Amino acid sequence: LKRLPPPGRIAYVDGLYVRHGEAGVHVEDRGLQFGDSVYEVCRVEGGCLCDLDEHLGRLERSLGEVAIPMPMSRSVLTVVMNEVVRRNRVCNGLIYLQVTRGAMRRDFQIPGRPRRPTLILTAHELDQAAIARRHAEGVKVVTLSDERWARCDIKTTQLLAGSIAKTKVREQGAFEAWLVDRDGFVTEGASSNAWIVDASGRIVTRHLNHAILPGVTRRVVLEAAAALNMATVERKFTPGEAVAASEAFMTSSTGPVIPVVDIDGKSVGNGRPGRITGLIAEKYSELSRNRLK
Ligand code: PMP
Repeated sequence: LKRLPPPGRIAYVDGLYVRHGEAGVHVEDRGLQFGDSVYEVCRVEGGCLCDLDEHLGRLERSLGEVAIPMPMSRSVLTVVMNEVVRRNRVCNGLIYLQVTRGAMRRDFQIPGRPRRPTLILTAHELDQAAIARRHAEGVKVVTLSDERWARCDIKTTQLLAGSIAKTKVREQGAFEAWLVDRDGFVTEGASSNAWIVDASGRIVTRHLNHAILPGVTRRVVLEAAAALNMATVERKFTPGEAVAASEAFMTSSTGPVIPVVDIDGKSVGNGRPGRITGLIAEKYSELSRNRLK
C-alpha cells in the first residue's frame, strides 16, 4: 500500500474547502476591519466534536447580541464542521469557527439590512504530550489588569487585550494571565475561566455577567462538581484569596481542566496539582465523553 502524503491544511471559507495558503476573506470584511465577528473553539476527541450543542448555543447567543444572522442551520453547520475535521484528519485537537458580519464598504455604521455573513472554519491537532504535562505538573499564572471591553460575555474576535496580556505573562514564564477588574477581583483568564477551592472546600468561580465569557467547560465543570456532591459558589475572588486557596485551576475547551500551582510567583497549596482539581478533571472527562458528536 502506498502511504498517503501528509494532508495539507484545509480551511472552509464561505462555502468552499480551500488550502490554507489560498484561503482568504474580502479586504473589506468587517471581521478584518472592525473585529465585527464572533467565534467558537470546540475540542475534538477521537475525531468527534465535544460539547457541540453548548458551543452552537453560545454561538447563536453571541450572534444574536451583535445582530449577525446564523450563516446556516445548526444541522448543516454540524455537517460542515465534521467535514473540516475529517479533511484535516484531526483526531485530538480543535476546530475553530468564525462568523463575521460580512464584506461591505468600510463604514463605522452597521448597515440596517443584514448582509451575508462570512463563515470560516479551520482545524488542527493539539500537542497531547504538552496537555498531559500541564495536567501532571500544573501551570503558573500571573495577574494583570483587565483592559478588555465591557461585553466579555460575547465571544467576539476583538482579542487584542487578551492577546497582549497572554504575551506579557508568557514572557515571565507563566502559562495564563488572570485578569483583574478595577475593584481588584479576578474576572477570568485571557482565554479561560478561573477557579479556586476556598477554605471550606467549596469550588469557587466568578458569577456570570458581562464581565466574563460563559465558558462551556465552566458549565460542564459545575455539573461535574454537582455529580460529585461538591459544593460550588459563583462569586468574585481576589488574587490574594486565590494565592491563599488550597487549590486553583483554569478551564477552557482545549485545556480542559488545568491545575494552577503558582500565582504571581507564589505557590498555591503545596505547589502541586490539587486533589479536588483532579477529581473534577476526571468527572469532566467522563461527562464530556458521553456527549461527543
Ligand atoms: N474566557 C475566555 C476569555 C476565553 O477566551 C475562553 C476560551 N475561549 C474561556 C473563558 C473558556 O471558554 P470555553 O470553556 O467555552 O472554551
